[in-house]
Amino acid sequence: MSQEPQSIAPWASPVARARIAEVAAGFTDLSLDGVTGTVRRALGEHARRFDDEGIVLYAGTNVMSPAAQRVSEPLVSARPSMGWPGEKYQTGLDQLDILEVLAPTLVARLVGARFAEVRSQSATFANLAVYTALAAPGDTIAVLPQRAGGHTSHHAVGAPGVRGLRVVDLPYDVGALDVDLHALPEFLEDQRPRVVVIGASLLLFPHRVEAIREITEAAGAVLVYDASHMAGLVAAGRFQRPLAEGAQLLTFSTYKSFGGPPGGVIATNDADLAERVSTMVFPGLTANYDAGRLAPLAVTAAEIHQDGGAYADRCVANAKAFAAALHDEGFTVAGADRGFTESHHVAVDAHLLGGGRAAAARLAAAGIYLSAVGLPWQNDDDPAGDRGLRIGTQEVTRRGFGPDELRQTAAWMAEVLLRDADPDAIRKAAADLRTGLLAR
Ligand SMILES: *Cc1c(COP(=O)(O)O)cnc(C)c1O
Repeated sequence: MSQEPQSIAPWASPVARARIAEVAAGFTDLSLDGVTGTVRRALGEHARRFDDEGIVLYAGTNVMSPAAQRVSEPLVSARPSMGWPGEKYQTGLDQLDILEVLAPTLVARLVGARFAEVRSQSATFANLAVYTALAAPGDTIAVLPQRAGGHTSHHAVGAPGVRGLRVVDLPYDVGALDVDLHALPEFLEDQRPRVVVIGASLLLFPHRVEAIREITEAAGAVLVYDASHMAGLVAAGRFQRPLAEGAQLLTFSTYKSFGGPPGGVIATNDADLAERVSTMVFPGLTANYDAGRLAPLAVTAAEIHQDGGAYADRCVANAKAFAAALHDEGFTVAGADRGFTESHHVAVDAHLLGGGRAAAARLAAAGIYLSAVGLPWQNDDDPAGDRGLRIGTQEVTRRGFGPDELRQTAAWMAEVLLRDADPDAIRKAAADLRTGLLAR
């Protein structure tokens, strides 16, 4: 067991290697008791930081509802389950059949689809299944540029590269914050992609899906909308309805604004596409899938349906209020000419604050957690890195934040980033705000 810390990832960056070494140096007791104690302390501190005291504005996360948490069963997740109900490889799983029929039925109903494939462990796998079903090695797919929210799982460094695909950036209209509709027809004519992927890791305003589909249709490409971030709004009938508007496939993560367990979904109204992508999920990319995840997924989907859009509306109203408050504090907030946002996302240009990463690190010291993000008006290879800060209101909304708490949060962000305040004092005040809301 004497493992050199460097052997974990000697290829990682110096910053990552230093942190790995620091963590490993803290392991003084690798006995069962020692490891159990180490794990318990880490989980306890993590829960305190995020669940009890922190202001989590990271856009790609959420907390499952109490009802969904109550049906989460790690022991079911640890049981293999392979194949369709009625023809499973294992015997005795009839009760899991119920979950496996219930979850996709409820998810499909929410997003306006005939079919939902819910067995992917992540949206990245869901996207890989889509690429694999629709494009052969050497084929081209067209995706949003990284600076415009194109995700790793859309780009050659990620899933499309695994399939050996050629990836090209869609023409982008910075003014419209959307695909450049004027340049798109000629671009598709030149590049001939099999698949066009829209939907982004930062999405302030809806895509013009209907117009984009008309153009992709004429070019013979399949239009995929990756709603990983927007799924909670889409499922509530808010923001936009990608399938009704013309996207042929909808993929998404189930743990971001959707608020369920981690996982990926592929939904469609097209029976042929449904069969092709589903066959890539199983038996293509998954053998035994996690049936335990499907219980909280089903409950989360039922909650979204029963809620009638109230949570989604609060998330969007909170984002608008937060954006306005940040603007009033003196931040440069994206989308100012269009009311800042129509989703639960807000973006701040942190170019003058040392860039997104540096600003996010300073806020983390104050107990405010979020991430950097590329902004459409930067260069992909900007040496300063991602120049934006990305904010999502989906978690704080669930924690009981309204416009008052968000105005206070915006003021704290201004203290830290614009006026160099002591982050420790703000971390304590932020924890008090969270604790006060919990007690309410
Ligand atoms: C987060 C994200 C994903 C990846 O989701 P995972 O479930 O974590 O694999 C895919 N696409 C987009 C646009 C995302 O933002």
